[in-house]
Amino acid sequence: MVYGEKPDISREKSAELYEKAKKCFPGGVNSPVRAFKSVYGTPLFIEKGDGCRLWDADGNEFIDFCCSWGPLILGHNHPKVREKVTEEMQKGMSFGAPTALETELAELILKNNRFIEKIRFTSSGTEAVMSAIRLARGATKRDKIIKFEGCYHGHSDSLLVKAGSGLVTFGETSSAGIPKSFAEETIVVSLNDEEALKAAFNQFKDQIACVIIEPVPANNGLLLQSKAYLQFLREICTQNGALLIFDEVISGFRVSFEGAAGYYDIQPDIITYGKIIGGGLPVGAYGASAQLMANISPEGGVYQAGTLSGNPVAMAAGIAQLSELAKSGFYKELNTKTEEFTNAIQRYATSKNYAFKVFQIASIFWFAFTDADAIQTAEAIDPASMEQFKLMHRELLNRGIYLGPSGYEVGFVSVAHSKIDLEKAKRAIFECLDIVFK
Ligand code: PLP
Repeated sequence: MVYGEKPDISREKSAELYEKAKKCFPGGVNSPVRAFKSVYGTPLFIEKGDGCRLWDADGNEFIDFCCSWGPLILGHNHPKVREKVTEEMQKGMSFGAPTALETELAELILKNNRFIEKIRFTSSGTEAVMSAIRLARGATKRDKIIKFEGCYHGHSDSLLVKAGSGLVTFGETSSAGIPKSFAEETIVVSLNDEEALKAAFNQFKDQIACVIIEPVPANNGLLLQSKAYLQFLREICTQNGALLIFDEVISGFRVSFEGAAGYYDIQPDIITYGKIIGGGLPVGAYGASAQLMANISPEGGVYQAGTLSGNPVAMAAGIAQLSELAKSGFYKELNTKTEEFTNAIQRYATSKNYAFKVFQIASIFWFAFTDADAIQTAEAIDPASMEQFKLMHRELLNRGIYLGPSGYEVGFVSVAHSKIDLEKAKRAIFECLDIVFK
């Protein structure tokens, strides 16, 4: 079928696989956004990835800017990661006992990070954040937490909570199955609003265990905050005896090796990691001062465990990937390449007077269909603009460019995206903008 100027890619095999998958999984997928509900067509079933490229079951080839939602900062199937993983796999997959690999990965991180002294590995970002919240509650002996509308922290009960109406609100659950009483322990405020946070601390004096934020909010668009605002969070937490948690599941090892804490030079109390830390295998982590981490079991009374935590194959992938990231000049090159790419797109859109902005930090970018020069809160995103993204997404797929299937998702550039790949992507994006704004 021809919608734009190019025929739609063939999705016959993907559609067949989707029909089979629907008989096995709710909605045919194992994580909801993969179902392509916010864009056109059936989900693409991926067969393989190499460098910055993906191939689907129908043999369509794409330049990939989703990068498995962030972990693949070296691109798909990086030889060093593949070789290290293959080597470790020969020795067995899991022991449920300590291995030297866990300490090797921890040392690599701790030596290159001024903001944490000890770390604990988990198997996902959700687990890392859930455990960080438990640590904050255990250490402060307080129950309530503050989170921000527009930040995502995984799918644990306390955090699947969205704002109600009003300046300071008890959250409302954003999923069925979460007891109202859980949501009542989570207070939700708007990003970039100092007064709302002050009001929350006044209203719940001595009850707030922690404030949790994505210091680079990248799950609901890219809602970049000012350094001054993040510093304000640091100060208000200290004044009130609450802990500040930076959820760096996306920004960790992405905006710098030390994540956003290093980028902004702000010391949080607890930092959570995921995605990049595992080199494409399932790893999460949380870290803090040695004193705070002493609260974790078996040293302290805050329980947290995992059958596959610190899995040797996953640790091997993390070691191989982070070793590349720790090399001097790694981030400068990647970030400069990304900035040139996004600046060129912005220049094109501006020259044509399109209501379109590319927001960018380091190697993360977000396409926003707006006139605004900055978008810093979830409320500032116009849901109607998602229709324009939907069209753009389909036209990009038709031109061999793969973005995450939702206009609220950010894109990632990896070291595997060469200048030639980015040039090709840019040309396709220009064509698609012309179609969207026709
Ligand atoms: N925190 C942030 C900031 C995330 O972006 C995500 C996932 O996208 C999570 C937590 C949850 O991580 P996972 O999907 O590995 O459970």
